[in-house]
Amino acid sequence: VSVWANVKAGPPDAILGITEKFKADTDPKKINLGVGAYRDGNGKPYVLPSVSKAEEILFQEKLDKEYLPITGLASFDKLATELAYGEDSAPIKENRLAVTQSLSGTGALRIGMEFIAEHYPSKSIYLPTPTWGNHNAIAKRAGLTAEKYRYFDPATVGLNFEALKEDIKNAPDGSVILLHACAHNPTGVDPTQEQWKELSQIFKEKKHFPFFDMAYQGFASGDPVRDAFAVRYFVEQGHQILLCQSFAKNLGLYGERVGTLSLVTASPEEKARVDSQIKLLVRPAYSNPPVHGARLVSTILSKPELKEQWLGEVKEMADRIIALREKLYNKLVELKTPGEWGHVKSQIGMFSFTGLKPEQVDQLAEKYHIYLTRDGRISMAGLNDNNIEYFAESVSKVVK
Ligand code: PLP
Repeated sequence: VSVWANVKAGPPDAILGITEKFKADTDPKKINLGVGAYRDGNGKPYVLPSVSKAEEILFQEKLDKEYLPITGLASFDKLATELAYGEDSAPIKENRLAVTQSLSGTGALRIGMEFIAEHYPSKSIYLPTPTWGNHNAIAKRAGLTAEKYRYFDPATVGLNFEALKEDIKNAPDGSVILLHACAHNPTGVDPTQEQWKELSQIFKEKKHFPFFDMAYQGFASGDPVRDAFAVRYFVEQGHQILLCQSFAKNLGLYGERVGTLSLVTASPEEKARVDSQIKLLVRPAYSNPPVHGARLVSTILSKPELKEQWLGEVKEMADRIIALREKLYNKLVELKTPGEWGHVKSQIGMFSFTGLKPEQVDQLAEKYHIYLTRDGRISMAGLNDNNIEYFAESVSKVVK
Protein backbone atom coordinates (compact mmCIF):
# COMPACT_ATOMS: atom_id res chain seq x y z
CA VAL A 1 0.00 0.00 0.00
CA SER A 2 1.00 3.56 -0.56
CA VAL A 3 2.36 5.62 2.33
CA TRP A 4 -0.39 8.13 1.60
CA ALA A 5 -3.24 5.62 1.50
CA ASN A 6 -4.76 7.18 4.62
CA VAL A 7 -4.69 10.79 3.45
CA LYS A 8 -8.25 12.06 3.30
CA ALA A 9 -9.42 14.36 0.51
CA GLY A 10 -9.71 17.94 1.79
CA PRO A 11 -12.53 20.29 0.83
CA PRO A 12 -11.98 22.35 -2.33
CA ASP A 13 -11.12 26.03 -1.77
CA ALA A 14 -14.40 27.94 -1.66
CA ILE A 15 -13.25 30.49 -4.21
CA LEU A 16 -10.68 28.72 -6.38
CA GLY A 17 -13.02 25.69 -6.59
CA ILE A 18 -15.46 27.86 -8.51
CA THR A 19 -12.91 28.53 -11.23
CA GLU A 20 -12.49 24.78 -11.64
CA LYS A 21 -16.23 24.30 -12.15
CA PHE A 22 -16.31 27.24 -14.52
CA LYS A 23 -13.50 25.80 -16.61
CA ALA A 24 -15.28 22.47 -16.87
CA ASP A 25 -18.49 24.12 -18.15
CA THR A 26 -18.61 24.11 -21.95
CA ASP A 27 -21.57 26.46 -22.44
CA PRO A 28 -20.54 29.59 -24.39
CA LYS A 29 -22.73 31.78 -22.17
CA LYS A 30 -20.83 30.85 -19.01
CA ILE A 31 -19.68 33.64 -16.66
CA ASN A 32 -17.15 33.44 -13.83
CA LEU A 33 -17.88 35.97 -11.09
CA GLY A 34 -16.06 34.01 -8.42
CA VAL A 35 -12.47 35.07 -8.43
CA GLY A 36 -11.37 38.51 -7.30
CA ALA A 37 -9.29 39.41 -10.31
CA TYR A 38 -9.93 42.35 -12.61
CA ARG A 39 -11.14 41.67 -16.15
CA ASP A 40 -11.19 44.14 -19.04
CA GLY A 41 -14.26 45.08 -21.07
CA ASN A 42 -13.88 41.87 -23.08
CA GLY A 43 -13.70 39.66 -20.03
CA LYS A 44 -9.96 39.11 -20.41
CA PRO A 45 -7.22 39.35 -17.77
CA TYR A 46 -5.64 42.77 -17.88
CA VAL A 47 -1.94 43.59 -17.83
CA LEU A 48 -1.63 47.27 -16.97
CA PRO A 49 0.19 49.21 -19.72
CA SER A 50 2.36 50.85 -17.02
CA VAL A 51 3.45 47.37 -15.94
CA SER A 52 4.30 46.43 -19.53
CA LYS A 53 6.43 49.56 -19.80
CA ALA A 54 8.21 48.72 -16.56
CA GLU A 55 8.87 45.21 -17.90
CA GLU A 56 10.53 46.70 -20.99
CA ILE A 57 12.67 48.98 -18.86
CA LEU A 58 13.76 46.06 -16.68
CA PHE A 59 14.49 43.90 -19.72
CA GLN A 60 16.80 46.58 -21.10
CA GLU A 61 18.62 46.80 -17.80
CA LYS A 62 19.63 43.12 -17.99
CA LEU A 63 19.62 42.74 -14.22
CA ASP A 64 20.89 39.62 -12.52
CA LYS A 65 18.73 37.13 -10.66
CA GLU A 66 20.59 37.12 -7.35
CA TYR A 67 18.77 36.66 -4.04
CA LEU A 68 17.15 39.63 -2.40
CA PRO A 69 17.85 40.29 1.29
CA ILE A 70 15.42 38.55 3.70
CA THR A 71 13.24 41.67 3.98
CA GLY A 72 13.24 42.30 0.24
CA LEU A 73 14.19 45.06 -2.16
CA ALA A 74 14.94 48.20 -0.10
CA SER A 75 13.76 50.67 -2.77
CA PHE A 76 10.51 48.75 -3.09
CA ASP A 77 9.93 48.64 0.68
CA LYS A 78 10.38 52.40 0.84
CA LEU A 79 8.22 53.34 -2.15
CA ALA A 80 5.49 50.86 -1.32
CA THR A 81 5.08 52.03 2.25
CA GLU A 82 5.18 55.67 1.14
CA LEU A 83 2.24 54.87 -1.10
CA ALA A 84 0.34 53.39 1.82
CA TYR A 85 1.26 55.76 4.64
CA GLY A 86 2.05 58.92 2.66
CA GLU A 87 5.51 60.35 2.04
CA ASP A 88 5.21 62.65 5.03
CA SER A 89 4.15 59.94 7.43
CA ALA A 90 5.93 60.38 10.77
CA PRO A 91 6.99 56.74 11.28
CA ILE A 92 8.65 56.73 7.83
CA LYS A 93 10.39 60.08 8.28
CA GLU A 94 11.56 59.14 11.75
CA ASN A 95 12.86 55.76 10.59
CA ARG A 96 10.62 53.79 12.91
CA LEU A 97 8.54 51.80 10.42
CA ALA A 98 9.61 48.16 10.30
CA VAL A 99 9.00 46.91 6.75
CA THR A 100 9.46 43.64 4.98
CA GLN A 101 8.58 42.72 1.41
CA SER A 102 5.96 39.97 1.56
CA LEU A 103 4.49 37.25 -0.62
CA SER A 104 1.63 39.56 -1.56
CA GLY A 105 -1.16 40.25 0.93
CA THR A 106 -1.51 36.64 2.02
CA GLY A 107 2.17 36.36 2.92
CA ALA A 108 2.00 39.63 4.87
CA LEU A 109 -1.01 38.34 6.80
CA ARG A 110 0.75 35.10 7.60
CA ILE A 111 4.02 36.62 8.81
CA GLY A 112 2.12 39.43 10.55
CA MET A 113 -0.07 37.00 12.46
CA GLU A 114 2.94 34.85 13.34
CA PHE A 115 4.60 37.97 14.70
CA ILE A 116 1.53 38.70 16.83
CA ALA A 117 1.44 35.09 18.04
CA GLU A 118 5.05 35.32 19.12
CA HIS A 119 5.36 38.86 20.46
CA TYR A 120 1.94 40.21 21.42
CA PRO A 121 0.37 39.40 24.80
CA SER A 122 -3.01 38.35 23.39
CA LYS A 123 -3.11 35.25 21.19
CA SER A 124 -6.39 35.89 19.44
CA ILE A 125 -7.46 38.09 16.56
CA TYR A 126 -10.92 39.55 15.96
CA LEU A 127 -12.19 39.21 12.40
CA PRO A 128 -15.27 40.87 10.91
CA THR A 129 -18.29 38.72 10.07
CA PRO A 130 -18.15 37.99 7.23
CA THR A 131 -14.58 38.33 6.06
CA TRP A 132 -12.25 36.96 3.39
CA GLY A 133 -12.32 33.22 4.14
CA ASN A 134 -8.56 32.88 4.19
CA HIS A 135 -8.26 35.16 7.24
CA ASN A 136 -9.57 32.37 9.47
CA ALA A 137 -7.25 29.77 8.00
CA ILE A 138 -4.20 32.04 8.22
CA ALA A 139 -4.93 32.92 11.86
CA LYS A 140 -5.20 29.25 12.74
CA ARG A 141 -1.95 28.34 10.97
CA ALA A 142 -0.19 31.21 12.69
CA GLY A 143 -1.30 29.94 16.07
CA LEU A 144 -3.96 32.56 16.81
CA THR A 145 -7.55 31.99 17.89
CA ALA A 146 -9.95 33.66 15.48
CA GLU A 147 -12.67 35.66 17.26
CA LYS A 148 -15.52 37.51 15.56
CA TYR A 149 -16.99 40.95 15.57
CA ARG A 150 -20.22 41.86 13.84
CA TYR A 151 -19.86 43.97 10.73
CA PHE A 152 -22.58 43.46 8.17
CA ASP A 153 -26.32 43.80 8.44
CA PRO A 154 -28.14 41.50 5.97
CA ALA A 155 -31.37 43.44 6.50
CA THR A 156 -29.93 46.71 5.15
CA VAL A 157 -27.17 45.03 3.09
CA GLY A 158 -24.96 47.65 4.78
CA LEU A 159 -22.67 48.23 7.74
CA ASN A 160 -23.99 47.36 11.17
CA PHE A 161 -21.99 50.10 12.87
CA GLU A 162 -23.74 49.88 16.23
CA ALA A 163 -23.12 46.14 16.52
CA LEU A 164 -19.53 46.60 15.34
CA LYS A 165 -18.88 49.19 18.05
CA GLU A 166 -20.58 47.10 20.68
CA ASP A 167 -18.45 44.07 19.86
CA ILE A 168 -15.13 45.87 19.84
CA LYS A 169 -16.08 47.62 23.09
CA ASN A 170 -16.87 44.26 24.63
CA ALA A 171 -13.61 42.67 23.48
CA PRO A 172 -10.97 42.53 26.24
CA ASP A 173 -8.69 45.59 26.41
CA GLY A 174 -5.68 45.25 24.14
CA SER A 175 -7.35 42.92 21.63
CA VAL A 176 -5.95 42.52 18.14
CA ILE A 177 -8.61 43.59 15.66
CA LEU A 178 -8.34 43.01 11.95
CA LEU A 179 -9.68 45.85 9.82
CA HIS A 180 -10.13 45.87 6.05
CA ALA A 181 -8.59 49.25 5.18
CA CYS A 182 -10.94 49.77 2.21
CA ALA A 183 -13.20 47.84 -0.17
CA HIS A 184 -14.19 45.23 2.41
CA ASN A 185 -14.19 41.72 0.99
CA PRO A 186 -16.76 40.16 0.56
CA THR A 187 -19.36 42.82 1.43
CA GLY A 188 -18.13 45.93 -0.42
CA VAL A 189 -19.26 47.90 2.62
CA ASP A 190 -16.81 50.30 4.34
CA PRO A 191 -17.10 52.61 7.34
CA THR A 192 -17.34 56.31 6.43
CA GLN A 193 -14.48 58.65 7.37
CA GLU A 194 -16.50 59.84 10.37
CA GLN A 195 -17.03 56.26 11.47
CA TRP A 196 -13.30 55.52 11.14
CA LYS A 197 -12.64 58.46 13.43
CA GLU A 198 -15.04 57.10 15.98
CA LEU A 199 -13.40 53.68 15.74
CA SER A 200 -9.97 55.19 16.28
CA GLN A 201 -11.25 56.77 19.49
CA ILE A 202 -12.66 53.45 20.74
CA PHE A 203 -9.40 51.68 19.87
CA LYS A 204 -7.58 54.26 21.99
CA GLU A 205 -9.87 53.85 24.96
CA LYS A 206 -9.67 50.07 24.73
CA LYS A 207 -5.94 49.99 23.87
CA HIS A 208 -6.81 47.69 20.98
CA PHE A 209 -4.22 46.81 18.37
CA PRO A 210 -5.26 47.73 14.78
CA PHE A 211 -4.21 45.03 12.32
CA PHE A 212 -4.92 46.48 8.86
CA ASP A 213 -5.37 44.44 5.70
CA MET A 214 -5.18 46.69 2.64
CA ALA A 215 -5.57 44.52 -0.46
CA TYR A 216 -7.46 47.07 -2.59
CA GLN A 217 -5.78 50.47 -2.27
CA GLY A 218 -7.02 52.46 -5.27
CA PHE A 219 -9.74 50.02 -6.15
CA ALA A 220 -12.38 51.51 -3.89
CA SER A 221 -12.50 55.12 -5.03
CA GLY A 222 -10.00 55.09 -7.90
CA ASP A 223 -7.62 57.17 -5.77
CA PRO A 224 -4.98 55.39 -3.65
CA VAL A 225 -4.65 58.39 -1.32
CA ARG A 226 -8.33 58.49 -0.55
CA ASP A 227 -8.44 54.73 -0.05
CA ALA A 228 -5.59 54.94 2.48
CA PHE A 229 -7.61 57.27 4.70
CA ALA A 230 -8.19 54.81 7.56
CA VAL A 231 -4.57 53.67 7.67
CA ARG A 232 -3.20 57.21 7.62
CA TYR A 233 -5.72 58.51 10.12
CA PHE A 234 -4.97 55.76 12.63
CA VAL A 235 -1.23 56.43 12.30
CA GLU A 236 -1.74 60.19 12.73
CA GLN A 237 -3.74 59.43 15.86
CA GLY A 238 -0.71 57.65 17.28
CA HIS A 239 -1.85 54.04 16.89
CA GLN A 240 0.99 51.60 16.38
CA ILE A 241 -0.65 49.79 13.50
CA LEU A 242 0.38 46.70 11.59
CA LEU A 243 -0.32 46.84 7.86
CA CYS A 244 -0.56 44.13 5.21
CA GLN A 245 -0.28 45.64 1.74
CA SER A 246 -0.88 43.89 -1.57
CA PHE A 247 -0.09 44.91 -5.14
CA ALA A 248 -2.08 42.04 -6.62
CA LYS A 249 -5.15 44.05 -7.49
CA ASN A 250 -4.09 47.67 -7.89
CA LEU A 251 -1.17 46.83 -10.18
CA GLY A 252 -2.65 43.62 -11.54
CA LEU A 253 0.38 41.71 -10.23
CA TYR A 254 -1.61 38.75 -8.89
CA GLY A 255 0.87 36.02 -9.77
CA GLU A 256 3.98 38.04 -8.96
CA ARG A 257 3.23 37.83 -5.22
CA VAL A 258 4.35 41.27 -4.19
CA GLY A 259 3.33 43.19 -1.08
CA THR A 260 4.62 44.45 2.23
CA LEU A 261 4.19 43.85 5.92
CA SER A 262 4.90 46.87 8.09
CA LEU A 263 4.71 47.71 11.78
CA VAL A 264 4.83 51.15 13.35
CA THR A 265 7.35 51.15 16.18
CA ALA A 266 8.35 53.79 18.72
CA SER A 267 11.98 54.42 17.69
CA PRO A 268 14.70 53.42 15.21
CA GLU A 269 16.18 51.21 17.90
CA GLU A 270 12.86 49.40 18.42
CA LYS A 271 12.39 49.13 14.66
CA ALA A 272 15.75 47.36 14.41
CA ARG A 273 14.68 44.84 17.04
CA VAL A 274 11.34 44.23 15.32
CA ASP A 275 13.10 43.89 11.95
CA SER A 276 15.42 41.28 13.39
CA GLN A 277 12.48 39.22 14.66
CA ILE A 278 10.64 39.46 11.34
CA LYS A 279 13.75 38.08 9.66
CA LEU A 280 13.62 35.11 12.01
CA LEU A 281 10.09 34.37 10.79
CA VAL A 282 10.79 34.87 7.08
CA ARG A 283 14.07 32.99 6.79
CA PRO A 284 12.73 29.52 7.65
CA ALA A 285 9.45 30.14 5.77
CA TYR A 286 10.77 31.09 2.32
CA SER A 287 14.24 32.56 2.87
CA ASN A 288 13.69 35.73 0.85
CA PRO A 289 11.00 37.12 -1.45
CA PRO A 290 10.81 37.03 -5.27
CA VAL A 291 12.58 39.87 -7.04
CA HIS A 292 10.67 40.58 -10.25
CA GLY A 293 7.40 42.00 -8.93
CA ALA A 294 9.23 44.21 -6.45
CA ARG A 295 11.35 45.62 -9.28
CA LEU A 296 8.23 46.32 -11.32
CA VAL A 297 6.54 48.21 -8.50
CA SER A 298 9.71 50.03 -7.65
CA THR A 299 10.22 51.07 -11.29
CA ILE A 300 6.67 52.38 -11.60
CA LEU A 301 6.58 54.24 -8.30
CA SER A 302 10.03 55.80 -8.76
CA LYS A 303 9.41 57.29 -12.21
CA PRO A 304 6.95 60.21 -11.98
CA GLU A 305 5.66 59.71 -15.52
CA LEU A 306 5.05 56.01 -15.07
CA LYS A 307 3.48 56.57 -11.69
CA GLU A 308 1.13 59.14 -13.19
CA GLN A 309 0.19 56.65 -15.91
CA TRP A 310 -0.44 53.92 -13.34
CA LEU A 311 -2.66 56.24 -11.28
CA GLY A 312 -4.74 56.80 -14.42
CA GLU A 313 -5.00 53.06 -14.98
CA VAL A 314 -6.14 52.34 -11.41
CA LYS A 315 -8.77 55.01 -11.79
CA GLU A 316 -9.90 53.51 -15.06
CA MET A 317 -10.32 50.08 -13.47
CA ALA A 318 -12.23 51.51 -10.51
CA ASP A 319 -14.40 53.64 -12.79
CA ARG A 320 -15.28 50.69 -15.00
CA ILE A 321 -16.47 48.80 -11.95
CA ILE A 322 -18.48 51.78 -10.71
CA ALA A 323 -20.11 52.11 -14.13
CA LEU A 324 -20.97 48.40 -14.11
CA ARG A 325 -22.69 48.82 -10.76
CA GLU A 326 -24.91 51.51 -12.20
CA LYS A 327 -25.71 49.40 -15.24
CA LEU A 328 -26.47 46.28 -13.26
CA TYR A 329 -28.71 48.20 -10.89
CA ASN A 330 -30.63 49.75 -13.78
CA LYS A 331 -31.09 46.39 -15.51
CA LEU A 332 -32.32 44.68 -12.34
CA VAL A 333 -34.84 47.46 -11.73
CA GLU A 334 -35.92 47.50 -15.39
CA LEU A 335 -36.61 43.77 -15.18
CA LYS A 336 -38.72 44.40 -12.06
CA THR A 337 -36.54 42.03 -10.07
CA PRO A 338 -38.13 41.57 -6.64
CA GLY A 339 -36.19 43.22 -3.82
CA GLU A 340 -34.21 46.39 -3.21
CA TRP A 341 -31.00 46.56 -5.26
CA GLY A 342 -29.58 49.94 -4.23
CA HIS A 343 -26.67 48.20 -2.50
CA VAL A 344 -25.32 47.06 -5.87
CA LYS A 345 -24.67 50.73 -6.61
CA SER A 346 -23.51 51.83 -3.18
CA GLN A 347 -21.08 49.02 -2.41
CA ILE A 348 -17.38 49.70 -2.80
CA GLY A 349 -14.51 47.95 -4.54
CA MET A 350 -14.23 44.81 -6.53
CA PHE A 351 -17.22 42.94 -5.13
CA SER A 352 -20.92 43.21 -4.70
CA PHE A 353 -22.61 41.25 -1.95
CA THR A 354 -25.85 40.68 -3.80
CA GLY A 355 -27.95 39.12 -1.06
CA LEU A 356 -28.61 36.08 -3.30
CA LYS A 357 -29.26 32.94 -1.25
CA PRO A 358 -27.09 29.81 -1.56
CA GLU A 359 -29.89 27.94 -3.39
CA GLN A 360 -30.23 30.81 -5.85
CA VAL A 361 -26.46 30.75 -6.40
CA ASP A 362 -26.71 27.03 -7.11
CA GLN A 363 -29.50 27.63 -9.61
CA LEU A 364 -27.45 30.27 -11.38
CA ALA A 365 -24.67 27.73 -11.84
CA GLU A 366 -26.84 24.79 -12.81
CA LYS A 367 -29.37 26.50 -15.08
CA TYR A 368 -27.52 29.54 -16.33
CA HIS A 369 -23.80 28.66 -16.22
CA ILE A 370 -23.04 31.60 -13.94
CA TYR A 371 -20.54 30.96 -11.16
CA LEU A 372 -20.15 32.87 -7.89
CA THR A 373 -19.45 32.11 -4.24
CA ARG A 374 -22.36 30.68 -2.26
CA ASP A 375 -22.47 33.73 -0.01
CA GLY A 376 -23.84 35.65 -3.01
CA ARG A 377 -20.70 37.66 -3.67
CA ILE A 378 -19.99 38.64 -7.26
CA SER A 379 -16.75 39.98 -8.64
CA MET A 380 -18.04 43.00 -10.56
CA ALA A 381 -15.19 43.03 -13.09
CA GLY A 382 -16.36 39.68 -14.45
CA LEU A 383 -19.27 41.58 -16.00
CA ASN A 384 -19.08 43.49 -19.27
CA ASP A 385 -21.28 44.77 -22.09
CA ASN A 386 -21.51 41.30 -23.60
CA ASN A 387 -22.79 39.47 -20.54
CA ILE A 388 -24.36 41.96 -18.14
CA GLU A 389 -27.82 41.66 -19.64
CA TYR A 390 -27.76 37.88 -19.57
CA PHE A 391 -26.55 38.05 -15.97
CA ALA A 392 -29.28 40.46 -14.86
CA GLU A 393 -31.97 38.40 -16.61
CA SER A 394 -30.73 35.21 -14.98
CA VAL A 395 -30.65 36.82 -11.53
CA SER A 396 -34.12 38.16 -12.10
CA LYS A 397 -35.37 34.68 -12.99
CA VAL A 398 -33.88 32.92 -9.96
CA VAL A 399 -35.21 35.60 -7.62
CA LYS A 400 -38.76 35.52 -9.04
N1 PLP B 1 -6.93 40.35 1.91
C1 PLP B 1 -8.11 40.38 1.30
C2 PLP B 1 -9.27 40.99 2.01
C3 PLP B 1 -8.25 39.86 0.02
O1 PLP B 1 -9.43 39.91 -0.58
C4 PLP B 1 -7.14 39.29 -0.62
C5 PLP B 1 -7.27 38.69 -1.95
O2 PLP B 1 -8.29 38.34 -2.43
C6 PLP B 1 -5.91 39.30 0.06
C7 PLP B 1 -5.86 39.83 1.32
C8 PLP B 1 -4.64 38.73 -0.45
O3 PLP B 1 -4.41 38.65 -1.77
P1 PLP B 1 -2.96 38.44 -2.33
O4 PLP B 1 -2.27 37.44 -1.45
O5 PLP B 1 -3.17 37.94 -3.70
O6 PLP B 1 -2.29 39.77 -2.27
